[in-house]
Amino acid sequence: MDYIIGIDIGTTSTKAIAFDLNGKILCKKSIEYPILNPKPSYSEQDPEEIFTAVLNSIKSVIIENVYKKPIGVSFSAAMHSVIAVDKDGIPLTNCIIWADTRSNEYAEKIKNSKVGHEIYMRTGTPIHPMSPLSKLAWMQDNMKDIVNKTYKFISMKEYVFFKLFGKYVIDYSIASATGMFDIYDLKWNKDALAILNINEDKLSTPVSPTYVMKGILNGYASFMEIDSDTPFVLGGSDGCLANLGANAIKQGDAAITIGTSGAVRVISNKPKNDEKERIFSYILTENHYVLGGPVNNGGVIFRWFRDNFSPMEIQEAKDLNIDPYVLLTDKAMSVPAGSDGLIFLPYLLGERAPHWDANMRGVYFGINIKHTRDHFIRALLEGIIFGIYSVGRALEETTGKINTIYATGGFARSKMWVQMLADIFNKKVVIAESYESSGLGAAVIGMKALGVIDNIEEVENLVPISKEFYPDEKNHDIYMKNYKIFDRLYEKLKDEFKEITKIQ
Ligand code: ADP
Repeated sequence: MDYIIGIDIGTTSTKAIAFDLNGKILCKKSIEYPILNPKPSYSEQDPEEIFTAVLNSIKSVIIENVYKKPIGVSFSAAMHSVIAVDKDGIPLTNCIIWADTRSNEYAEKIKNSKVGHEIYMRTGTPIHPMSPLSKLAWMQDNMKDIVNKTYKFISMKEYVFFKLFGKYVIDYSIASATGMFDIYDLKWNKDALAILNINEDKLSTPVSPTYVMKGILNGYASFMEIDSDTPFVLGGSDGCLANLGANAIKQGDAAITIGTSGAVRVISNKPKNDEKERIFSYILTENHYVLGGPVNNGGVIFRWFRDNFSPMEIQEAKDLNIDPYVLLTDKAMSVPAGSDGLIFLPYLLGERAPHWDANMRGVYFGINIKHTRDHFIRALLEGIIFGIYSVGRALEETTGKINTIYATGGFARSKMWVQMLADIFNKKVVIAESYESSGLGAAVIGMKALGVIDNIEEVENLVPISKEFYPDEKNHDIYMKNYKIFDRLYEKLKDEFKEITKIQ
């Protein structure tokens, strides 16, 4: 049977997934690696370790398919990474990943500079420490020796392709998340490069996500037990490919992920930037842009509640051999929608979209004497969804109405939490069966590049739907009363959030 390998170079692991040409998973191999935190604000990974994980994961799925050769290999990778390499392609730094916040001050400075807004409008990437633009600005001042020796600044995926093929190329999708790439002209942005005092020869050559390379170097092909002329497709970024792999690629579709963190993303045939700088515009293909906002405060907040306030449920779950989240969501269900007026702001980790304010904090608001612990659980789940909803509303203002939501991430294990999403948004929510949406997205781009499919919309036939949820209007009205207050609380508390960060 013909198959294609989707590679997903993620933050915790690299996964190689073999898909048949109907999108069915034949086998997969995941290899984990650590995040290194030499200082609290630093988040780095070892590029060599990740490259080895890519080679070994491909080799494993090929062996598992009894050495039958794939028709191609296509890549998804995490966005925003930076590695400085010398003229031989040897890394001079670790891979500095999206979670690294050392460049916070530089991001603020660029954002507030004369060209800050224009750079955001042309590049589609919010100016934030996650963005390679801010990271390179930090490096220029704080790693002068390394910068002087640097031949190119590249991302993790470029490093893999350079090792395999000896060329520096970057797909438009990964490039569009660097904060240095003009998403209208598909060229490096001059203003961004001027701030950094670099020329485009310090960066890779931008190419389409369907760009194919052949001719694997240095014996890596025989190591992977693959033909050296197997087509390797550059593919895109994990955020964009997750939309594709969840089949959320028609106008009016949104993909909502709530795992540890969260995101709301919609598809548009043109980039559309938000004057208020609340959302990103990344490239999936030359005709598909993914617009959206990431949130820090997703499922991690529910985990925080479980770990700090739920010893009873943890013990009971152990005795019953079930997940403590199930007991906690059952308790939340004993309280009516709207938590009898208890409102929770989930911003324990500061927040990215829609406010992009690292000073934000968590708040329970409106506590009265009748509220019980169960109310606190329900309000917490509602508050996480309100945070996501505020991003959804900002997106609708810019991109038009969302009709259907495709939900993914750990929260989708809970029917009540997904129903809450449907009720708060007042929209239909679909759960896609596959948990490997970025890998499948990569495989679909690969199929398009290799002529197996004519257009990526054919993904519809490759993703089975497992369940649909419809909104309850009455609950929606109740939630909206709370949401109005939730929304106003940020403006009212903004200054106090700033003050409190001075104390602790
Ligand atoms: P990651 O982002 O690390 O891949 P997941 O997508 O697995 O994480 O999501 C983990 C989060 O999903 C948890 O922190 C929790 O908030 C939520 N979650 C997991 N299982 C359940 C469940 N049964 N009910 C409700 N929420 C759940």
